[in-house]
Amino acid sequence: MVAHGLMKRLGNYNSPKLISFPSVSCVSVKFIMYLGVVAYICYAFIVQKRYQEKEELTSAVRINLKGVAYADRIWDAAEYTMPMQSRDSFFVMTNIIKTENQLQQTCPEYPIDKAICSSDKSCEKGSADVHGNGVQTGRCVQFNETYKTCEIMAWCPIQKEEAPPVPAVLRNSEDFTVLIKNNIHFPTFNYTTQNISPKLNISCKFNKVTSPLCPIFRLGDIIKEAKENYSEMAVKGGIIAIEIKWDCNLDSWSHHCSPEYSFRRLDDKTRTHYTGFSFKFARHYKLPNETEHRTLFKAYGIRFDVLVFGMAGKFNVIEFFTFLGSTITYFGLAVTVIEICFCLYNCSNCCKIALCENVIRKKYEAVLMPEQVVFVSHVDEPQIAVVKIPLKTSLQNAKSSVFENHFVKSYDPRIYESSENHSTGECELRELTQNISSSDCPKWCNCGRCNESEKYHEQLCCRKTDGQCITTTRWFMQLVLSRDTLNKALLYEDPFLDLTGHKSKSQLRRVAYKQYIHWRFGSFDLEDRAIIPNCCRKLIRNTYPNADGKYTGFNMD
Ligand code: ZN
Ligand code: ZN
Repeated sequence: MVAHGLMKRLGNYNSPKLISFPSVSCVSVKFIMYLGVVAYICYAFIVQKRYQEKEELTSAVRINLKGVAYADRIWDAAEYTMPMQSRDSFFVMTNIIKTENQLQQTCPEYPIDKAICSSDKSCEKGSADVHGNGVQTGRCVQFNETYKTCEIMAWCPIQKEEAPPVPAVLRNSEDFTVLIKNNIHFPTFNYTTQNISPKLNISCKFNKVTSPLCPIFRLGDIIKEAKENYSEMAVKGGIIAIEIKWDCNLDSWSHHCSPEYSFRRLDDKTRTHYTGFSFKFARHYKLPNETEHRTLFKAYGIRFDVLVFGMAGKFNVIEFFTFLGSTITYFGLAVTVIEICFCLYNCSNCCKIALCENVIRKKYEAVLMPEQVVFVSHVDEPQIAVVKIPLKTSLQNAKSSVFENHFVKSYDPRIYESSENHSTGECELRELTQNISSSDCPKWCNCGRCNESEKYHEQLCCRKTDGQCITTTRWFMQLVLSRDTLNKALLYEDPFLDLTGHKSKSQLRRVAYKQYIHWRFGSFDLEDRAIIPNCCRKLIRNTYPNADGKYTGFNMD
């Protein structure tokens, strides 16, 4: 059976039902959001090229430094540049402290804190301080007039701890040039290229404006682009990044793949006790008498790190459709925003907007368990109310909620019209109504025409606030009570009904109740659960009474 039902369902196409209503603000919000989405799509499509598959590059860098400087003697590329341990970087010496003719022998330690002594007791034979220059011999000797220091076995004389010379010895190195050869490869796209094109003029010099693609850089220009001063930086040294950014579009219709160079300083010169970038190295030589000598250099300089990064993109069908799919959902965003607004409006009770109330009533259909509720309609309230049963107090005063998924009654000013201008047929009915006294009116009644009842569900007035009773209007007479109307309603049910015959009063009452419900509740759907106010029920019963005057109550009796 289940399978059969399922098969039947599969044959049906389900289409969502929509609510349509005129609202300039909602439409404006929708189209503004659509415009935003379209703008974003254009941006993502044209600028970000989201239809492309992207890949990061792999790169190789070679560096060729050229230049000769004179400072006391000639310094060429073999001397001022040093290979660095790290990949893709080179070092250019800019300043130097030289200590010549060092020999392995004993001499006083440089007066660092730990080495200062007063007698031999302060010095321990064989100990070596990590900050010192050699191994202590255990003697305390005179360093100069002021200090006595421990004697050490070391390369003597010890290099002086002094500040690097200003101006820098090799400050002329700013005119050196460096040729950076950069090969890149994109494995997925199997595309290889380099920053030196065959057409490139090898005598060019990089300039951000006039020749931005030239791979030959003057060191001074690099430092200037990094917003630093070369002669200042040359004293203590530092670290400079040469960034090569590749932005490649490998689509045949808009192919381009070229590097973009930028420069910046990597180390923080603003730090207190900034030591710059320096290291020590020594050149050794032997005298004819086989004693080993060395010259110790403390080299200051600039380390240049070449950082290569970048992406290539190429049209890809899957990426294209993924992008397309994601953009379509963005259009749904506009609707979602409006729905959220409605939802927030529905949750907050701060203000009532007629349009929103209507839309929400149409949108949110509450499913009620019919046996647990009754429906109530007051003539002075626009909505039909739902009251949960069993009742704990009179129906009139019971806690109720608005019956959301139902039509809104409109205030009908005719109801409050004076019933003076009535047609002749109503006279006899009016007489009936006038017989009713309003003196012993129960507390829950606001119209003055209800009778006391012990049953909570019969304690319901036609009004929520004090005022004229609905039964006194001529419309009540015409639409509910009039025999003519009831005859028509009977014919409505059964066109072949013989109206000449005697109709039982209970049948007329039933039709009158139905009429009232149709009038005040707007439909017959609620017939079983709609409660007729006490005053109305009373007048209907009085008009079409049972012979014995007994009624079973509540329902259609
Ligand atoms: Zn009443
Ligand atoms: Zn009433």
